[in-house]
Amino acid sequence: MTVCGREPLIVRASAAGLPAADISFTYLSVPLYEETADLLEERGMIGAEEREEVRRTMPFMGFVGLNLAVRAFVQKKDWRSVAAAHSAANAPLAAAYLAQLPSQGLLIDGGWGNFAEDVTDDTRRSFDYDDIRTADQNNIRKIAEGGYTVFEQCGAIVRYCTLAGADSSVWETLSPAEKSERLSEATRLILRALGVQTETDVQVLDELPVKGAGGLCCDGGKSILYRSDCVKNYEWTIDAVCHECYHAFQHMVMYGPWREWYWTDLGVTRGRKAEWLVNTGKKYFPNVGSPSYYVQVRESEARAFAKDCLRDADKIWNSLNFD
Ligand SMILES: [Zn+2]
Repeated sequence: MTVCGREPLIVRASAAGLPAADISFTYLSVPLYEETADLLEERGMIGAEEREEVRRTMPFMGFVGLNLAVRAFVQKKDWRSVAAAHSAANAPLAAAYLAQLPSQGLLIDGGWGNFAEDVTDDTRRSFDYDDIRTADQNNIRKIAEGGYTVFEQCGAIVRYCTLAGADSSVWETLSPAEKSERLSEATRLILRALGVQTETDVQVLDELPVKGAGGLCCDGGKSILYRSDCVKNYEWTIDAVCHECYHAFQHMVMYGPWREWYWTDLGVTRGRKAEWLVNTGKKYFPNVGSPSYYVQVRESEARAFAKDCLRDADKIWNSLNFD
């Protein structure tokens, strides 16, 4: 019987003295629903009207449960109870695993049902002002609660936090410590506008760990770094803040549950999330000197986001009526 092409791997691992559990820690899927139901029906284990029962009671039986079920059937035992009990025992483990997976399909196909609960909460709107230090809290409130788009908010936040209402010529007169403080606040508040709740450490350094990089978003936004000679250029700097924050947003989207506002507020589709997930690991090109770096989807979209934010903020800037 061929339910899935992974069988030979399991067989080889068993022959080498490895139980299946030892090799199943990364993306080992369970049998496909349609194929399993077809198999059970072909072998006379169920009638067509029982396919739904299989779906409902045996989603997490896995290959081991399927094997036990077939064995029980051959031995004329109550194989349905065997499969259902095995599935029920696996269910809590599967739930914990699914919560960590970027998509349900890496463990169990949609034929078995929808086990990835979409999160409908609205965390992005809980904008907190208490920890704002260098900027004026009231003015940030005007940006965050003025009915602006996320793009307008992010662009306005970075302009306002960096200059505090002054002309951009003031930027070059600021000390490195002042620049660092303002960049830190701008970064934290843009992450807030993007719904990213990670605690972020922002630093301006003389050298970054990646050669040629002017800004870096590390560990999904836990650390955001800017290179000191790059932040001398004001327009480069505000673009980089939006860009690096978007990488942290992408990380949240890629490795968390789907939220509908990713689409309604930022135009990010589920398909986009899937594309970003492709552009990771060995398929992410970190060499800024290579053309691949510029065309890869995560980078090009972070650049587009920053451009959109700065353009849109310019359009609404005069309507903000700062104190
Ligand atoms: Zn980037």
